[in-house]
Formats: sequence, structure tokens, C-alpha cells
Amino acid sequence: MFSLGLNILLPASCIVCSCVLPYNHSYQVCPSCWSGLIPIKKSCATCGRPYAGNTDSLEYQCGSCKKGSKTYYAKARSIGLYYGTLKKIIQHLKYRKIKGIAPKLADWMIEHMPEDMYIQKYDFILPAPIHIRRLRQREFNQSLILAKPIAKYYSRPLMLYNLYRKKMDQAQAGLNRNLRITNVKGDFGIKYPERIKDKKLLLIDDVYTTGATVRECAKVLLKSGAQQVDVLTLARTEDRR
Ligand SMILES: [Zn+2]
Ligand SMILES: [Zn+2]
Repeated sequence: MFSLGLNILLPASCIVCSCVLPYNHSYQVCPSCWSGLIPIKKSCATCGRPYAGNTDSLEYQCGSCKKGSKTYYAKARSIGLYYGTLKKIIQHLKYRKIKGIAPKLADWMIEHMPEDMYIQKYDFILPAPIHIRRLRQREFNQSLILAKPIAKYYSRPLMLYNLYRKKMDQAQAGLNRNLRITNVKGDFGIKYPERIKDKKLLLIDDVYTTGATVRECAKVLLKSGAQQVDVLTLARTEDRR
């Protein structure tokens, strides 16, 4: 009981560097850490894999996409690298339930939206679903709290509960690439296929790691009649293929 009182009196601190936040600061990262977030500038025109070369980003394709690896989605884009400050923030968001940072992250995504993403063209925006049991543990779907402000900003409707996760996801962090991919096979289902028939859909997720989750979602959506599925994620892990 006593500690509860102490918590209230403690000033808020930055979730990245632990410094004391300025008075009335509206989100849990200090301005200095926030300014350390670096958006991805150039990436593969199909899968969004970041690269550091000089080629025009609208034309470049990574080796894997050039070889014709099946992605199911038409294109994927990520806003920042899953590294340093952004990685820390996302880990806090997911595992420490600090969801107050989500609107600020969504604003950052909008601010750095790649120029070849025309959000207005999508009939619906879908957050990548998590299993109901995971939702009860975490109390929120991190993809939904990012997708909501984006849908609002671009005046696009959100589609919730149609694409769903059938199986509880295992912790993917310790799995290698092949295991991650087989791990999500057959995990997703569609409740009302007629609602996505011939529609252009944008799937929003927090992190693109191997792409297994978003590819599996896109596959199910296309099989159920969607015309096109694109993917947008807040972050992308560094190349692991
Ligand atoms: Zn800080
Ligand atoms: Zn690629």
C-alpha cells in the first residue's frame, strides 16, 4: 500500500535511457532518445528489405525477390529498423504493456510513410491478429493500437475480427527462420470471406522479422478472394536471410 503512494510521487522516466521526463511530457520517451529513431530510407520495391546502396528505391529489388520468392503480399514496407531505441520501445510496448507510446509511434509512421504507399487506395486496413489468449495476457493487440490512428488519419475503415489467429503463437524469438515459418502455417483464418472479396487490403503489424506471419496472412486473405494485400510494419529486423 505504501509503495503505491511512492509510485505516484516518482517523476516519470524515459523507458529507453531512464532519465527524468520533462514535466507534462505526453509519452514515455525523452526527446533526446526519440530523436534517435531513424527511418528506413531505401528498401526492396517488393519486400521492403532495407539496403544502403545508391539505386533508386522505387526500382531496387533484393536478391530473394529477384529470384521470385513467393511473398503473397504485393509489397511490404517498414518505417524503421528494429534496432536500438525503436527495438527498446517496441519491447516495452509489447511486454511491459506500455501502450501510451502507440499513438506517438503511429504519428512517426505517418510522418515517414514511404512515398509509394498510397494509404487512401485501400478498401480496408487490417491489424495482424493475435490469438485471443495472447490478447488476454497482453490486454491489447499492439498491431491494432498502431493501425487505429493510421486508419483515422487516412480516413480508411479498419476491418477487425475477420482475419483471426486460430492457434496460439509460440514465442518466436528463440526459433530459427525455418521453424518460424512452419510455426505459423495454417494459423490464420477468415470468418467472412465475402467482406474482402475483390478488396485491396493493407495489413499492419508491429515488426517484420522473417515475414512468415504477414505472408501467411496475405496467403489466406488472397485465397479468400481479396484482390491485393500490402503490408506495413512499424519496424523491420536486420537482414537474417
Ligand atoms: Zn531517453
Ligand atoms: Zn525483396
